[in-house]
Amino acid sequence: MSRQHALLSASSAYRWINCPPSAKLQEQYEDKGSAYAEQGTDAHSLAEWKLRKALGMDVEPDPRDTLPYYDEEMEEHTDDYAAYILELLAEARKTCDDPLVMVEQRVDYSRWVDGGFGTADAILISDGCMTIIDLKYGSGVEVSAEHNPQTCCYALGALDLLDDLYAIDTITMIIFQPRRENISEWTISRDELLAWAEETLRPAAELAAEGKGEYHSGDHCRFCKARHECRTRAEEQISMMRYDCDLPPTLTDAEVEDILGKADQLINWAEDIKEYALQAAIGGKHWNGFKLVEGRSNRRFTDEKAVAKAVTEAGEDPYEKKLLGITAMTTLLGRKRFNELLGKYVEKPRGKATLVPESDKRPAMTDTDFDEIDNEKKGE
Ligand code: SF4
Repeated sequence: MSRQHALLSASSAYRWINCPPSAKLQEQYEDKGSAYAEQGTDAHSLAEWKLRKALGMDVEPDPRDTLPYYDEEMEEHTDDYAAYILELLAEARKTCDDPLVMVEQRVDYSRWVDGGFGTADAILISDGCMTIIDLKYGSGVEVSAEHNPQTCCYALGALDLLDDLYAIDTITMIIFQPRRENISEWTISRDELLAWAEETLRPAAELAAEGKGEYHSGDHCRFCKARHECRTRAEEQISMMRYDCDLPPTLTDAEVEDILGKADQLINWAEDIKEYALQAAIGGKHWNGFKLVEGRSNRRFTDEKAVAKAVTEAGEDPYEKKLLGITAMTTLLGRKRFNELLGKYVEKPRGKATLVPESDKRPAMTDTDFDEIDNEKKGE
């Protein structure tokens, strides 16, 4: 991997497009990796293997035994991924005689981003339409395909590779995120994508490669290694605190709306700072006015087997029998069997009212929703 690619990778494009100098700043930090990333790599390996097999391509030996994070859940989600792409292919065959699927295709978008290349999980080409499918194995944050810079970079690389062979005029990006039950789809025309590449991607990449441009904080900061110490992020969050010293005794509606719009970022930033300061203190740093103390802890058994034996010998049952929760039960039975056996016993109660920005995809609650929640409560 070239240094430039690591600097301006597609997966970090959301960050460096929004904050170009953040790219160079990452070089000051060690890449620590994470168990989540390793789990994602395993899921991708298995998904690729299954998809190639399902498409009748040559495959390496079964990788399952070599994947440390392999489990029943991964088995099912990768099955779903392969089946989903086969469905897309079957759908494409209805209108196109010879649709093409490319698996783990290396794509090069260096025409717009110096040294930019990556690997698209799957690409489907049929009748002037190209579909880029990106498997996301994470379950933390729901990923949207809409204006997603990572898939846009892959699409540009794929266009560069295939545009001469296939007259592609429409590109659909799909995020397949099974652990969030999220399939997000977004379509853009070839011309719009190329315009974005020229007007947004290229200028940001040029600035980022040189460590120039303006620091700008936002949602993208959560992917930045400098997020704990970044001055711009701190200043933008601290500017929120001006509300502390405003003269009117109560906040106006407009001020509350302003704070609501920034509250999540403020909380994330404060948590990042607390974690950063804690780790530094554990490492020996002294923060004026603060000290490390032991948190609360609960009593626990030192030897569970010995406890069980002692209680059994005393004539008592040391174990409680509890029904597994839905996630553990799904893992035990597998999703298909779970649905067959238990589907009729599962319900999804109404969620608690939550205040979110207008841009949120969920429909706004109506009076009918509140009536139904009241009725549910009365029926309890
Ligand atoms: S924390 Fe945010 S503002 Fe600071 S460098 Fe990183 S992306 Fe830019």
